[in-house]
Amino acid sequence: MSSDIDIRVTGRAGRITFTRPQALNALNYDMCLAIDAAMRQWESDDDIALVVIDAEGDRAFCAGGDVAALYRSGTMGNYRDGRDFWRDEYRLNAYIAEYPKPVVSLMQGFTMGGGVGIGCHGGHRVVCETSQIAMPEAGIGLIPDVGGTYLLSRAPGRLGEYLGLTAARMGPGDTILAGFADHYIPRDRWADLIELLEASGDVAQVAAHAEPAPAAPLAEARDEIDRLFAAETLDEVRATLEAADSELATSALKAVRRNSPLSMACTLEMLRRLRAEAATIRQALELEYRFTWRSMEDGDFLEGVRAQLIDKDRNPQWKHADGILPDAAVRHMLAPLGEDGLTFEGEERVMRIGFIGLGNMGAPMAANLATPGHEVIGFDMAPVEIDGVQMAATAAEAATGADVVITMLPNGQILRDVAAQVIPAMKPGACFADCSTVDVDSARAVAAEAEAAGLLAVDAPVSGGVGGAQAGTLTFMAGGSAPAFAVVKPLFDIMGQKAVHCGGPGAGQAAKICNNMILGVTMIATCEAFALADKLGLDREKMFDVVSTSSGYSWTMNAYCPAPGVGPTSPADNDYKPGFAAELMLKDLRLSQQAAGSADADTPMGQLAEALYATFVEEEDGRGMDFSAMLPRFEKRHRS
Ligand code: NAD
Repeated sequence: MSSDIDIRVTGRAGRITFTRPQALNALNYDMCLAIDAAMRQWESDDDIALVVIDAEGDRAFCAGGDVAALYRSGTMGNYRDGRDFWRDEYRLNAYIAEYPKPVVSLMQGFTMGGGVGIGCHGGHRVVCETSQIAMPEAGIGLIPDVGGTYLLSRAPGRLGEYLGLTAARMGPGDTILAGFADHYIPRDRWADLIELLEASGDVAQVAAHAEPAPAAPLAEARDEIDRLFAAETLDEVRATLEAADSELATSALKAVRRNSPLSMACTLEMLRRLRAEAATIRQALELEYRFTWRSMEDGDFLEGVRAQLIDKDRNPQWKHADGILPDAAVRHMLAPLGEDGLTFEGEERVMRIGFIGLGNMGAPMAANLATPGHEVIGFDMAPVEIDGVQMAATAAEAATGADVVITMLPNGQILRDVAAQVIPAMKPGACFADCSTVDVDSARAVAAEAEAAGLLAVDAPVSGGVGGAQAGTLTFMAGGSAPAFAVVKPLFDIMGQKAVHCGGPGAGQAAKICNNMILGVTMIATCEAFALADKLGLDREKMFDVVSTSSGYSWTMNAYCPAPGVGPTSPADNDYKPGFAAELMLKDLRLSQQAAGSADADTPMGQLAEALYATFVEEEDGRGMDFSAMLPRFEKRHRS
């Protein structure tokens, strides 16, 4: 998990704490994905009664999204990273708003932009003496996003227009008035409250701790704000502010002159539309995404971030700074995005998927992808027929026009060969996802080749075997960028029950071979211990009873016991038919030792396990047997 966030379960509460106070807890892509994954798990966990979100440090709950990272990719012409980040962030915002269990957020200090998206959509939003909430996006060429337009469109009178255009900061009283928070609770009572929530799971504790909110200055200013921001267009609002003579009008005019005209004009139009439709948060987010999707290429986002955060000259060269802002510019930024538009869970768009390598694992995985309606084009060297999968004549043909290409191949060399044919045929921005088990070097080389060709890349080997592939219960361990993982995650969710983003390119293969090295070593240890027990006259059932509940327990003993008739049913009960074949274990152990060699790691047990499985498979009768058939092997042997 990212060190920027601490996700855990404490008592009856799913707990999320931002732990990046030095960066004002700015929200990045990995943090969004981690929150999303945890909340999905907690949704169906009956032991979890509610979710509590808080943050370390005094200065900020979360001062915004990590836009500097998006600036870096955007200025290199890569708009995809930003679009992917916003898409998944907005989906998370809607998910929080619609979450079936109570979500409590405790927001001290600054809560802005991305922080509002996490903290201000739950049903139990808490502020304190230091809380300052704002939507300052117009200052960096964006619109108030992350569901900000939804909140602003529902604020009383014209407060939404005022807050969205001027980025004015709200203190605790104002946040409650404007509908960004529910309860005022002094900060020194938060620790007790959180402890109570964790222990009891009783969300009523939040209201029980609330105190009357401090005065809301915006309530006093309401009439004037409603008058000043009543107009429909930015020009009219600006003219009204210029004509007015008050402190509030003067400071609002200063802000309106500082911020991006295009952003402000679009904000006004969005609030008007959302209010007219009494829109849902999903409708608001979908509209926001139209703007942010275009904001790097056609809007002021990159220039705004440059001026505010990168060069810090505070002198942005906005588009339409001459005061001429045609309606067409606003219409363009808010026009529907067609198939690129934001969708939510249950309305995912159909993908075109190239699937190469349709053997024991690949064939059922491809069939599972086709079932919910994805268009799957397959290719294998051997003739194959799979229900719902259209076959191509070459690997390149299967990859042409695909959103995602998945490979499920025997080894790293074949993967490299196939990648060389497929990558040039793929459309820019598509994702190459290898699910084979291969060496880390090949995984990294293929990822680099794909990325150099403008593609996303993921290495995502699986565990769960042929049974898991058929049942759609595989576990995916993925390496690659966060945007790449986000693209393929919905597909992994169809083919499996768990997908873990382990890190950058090669991290998935690293996780797989480390896991399987432990598996190979423990299987050998379990088998030799059973053989020793036999020779000591210890009954196998008794041995299982003791070890499976003592410190010698392991997955190989408890879940996959190599002794026939002992423990749960396993390949040992089926004459050691695989299951997981000994030669596949040998392959994985060789990969682990190859990686250990490249990384200069000392792995004596892994080395010995490789040698034992090599003897078993290549010189004895292990080929075609389950890897747990090491037990009958040891039974026959004597100490040398
Ligand atoms: P498999 O041998 O049944 O399937 C591999 C397929 O790739 C075959 O159909 C073969 O014809 C095809 N192929 C080979 N070269 C090709 C090429 N150049 N172009 C197109 N197709 C080509 O193997 P499998 O059991 O499906 O395993 C696939 C991968 O999954 C392996 O990397 C394996 O280590 C891994 N894996 C397997 C299991 C398991 O239990 N079988 C479990 C986890 C991971």
